[in-house]
Amino acid sequence: MGASKKKKFYNLKSDTDDSVTFPAKNRFRKENIDTVIAKITEYTKNVKAPVMEFVKIMTNDPFKILVGTLLSSRTNDNTTSKVLANFFMNVEKADDINDMSVKELEELIFPVGFYRTKAKHLKELPIVLKNKFNGIIPETIEELVQLPGVGRKTANLVMILAFEQPAMCVDVHVHRISNRIGIIKTKNPLDSELALREVIPLKYWMKYNFILVAFGQNLCKPTFPRCTICPVEKYCEKYSVNLRP
Ligand code: SF4
Repeated sequence: MGASKKKKFYNLKSDTDDSVTFPAKNRFRKENIDTVIAKITEYTKNVKAPVMEFVKIMTNDPFKILVGTLLSSRTNDNTTSKVLANFFMNVEKADDINDMSVKELEELIFPVGFYRTKAKHLKELPIVLKNKFNGIIPETIEELVQLPGVGRKTANLVMILAFEQPAMCVDVHVHRISNRIGIIKTKNPLDSELALREVIPLKYWMKYNFILVAFGQNLCKPTFPRCTICPVEKYCEKYSVNLRP
């Protein structure tokens, strides 16, 4: 197939490019959402789970889940696992951080992504918790985002993992894959969160992030997704997909 024909169906630019075009044929249908989620769930049973699922298995402590979620951002799962194991050997509860300097925290969490910024946020965490929330991890998204370094993605994940409340956690995988398939058509993660809340049935909210992260790490990767072996290929619009030449 020549380059001009390919462009009719697939945009060849990056996911973040605004000039994307939709495929000539709309393949995704809203009524297929249960099938698509069932097939992705089935696929992810046989692949490695995202690190935060393991954290949840190990602890129900909201403080540990919050710290794990913060440190896992922009960090690969292997590094996150090692750093968290070491961190929780030194820090059991938020107040333990009061005795540590930012420099000590940096050394403890190195080499997670943005470790200097995250160390500063960790240092502020027990102070903000005490001043605003009586030392207790709050249980709403609106309150969680008032904690240092906590954005909507982290807050939604903490709601799911720590408090077992349905929430829609949108990270790069969820944003990318939901748009590729055609479930939503959005430009940024916040718009995706709002759009997914409308279209994804509530019963799937708690697992939607985990299955899409595992799916995105193993099959629907940022570049060159493995469409030829994908279980949802026939439902997918492949919007903005960069196919292997
Ligand atoms: S791997 Fe390809 S077919 Fe499957 S969801 Fe991703 S873009 Fe769609």
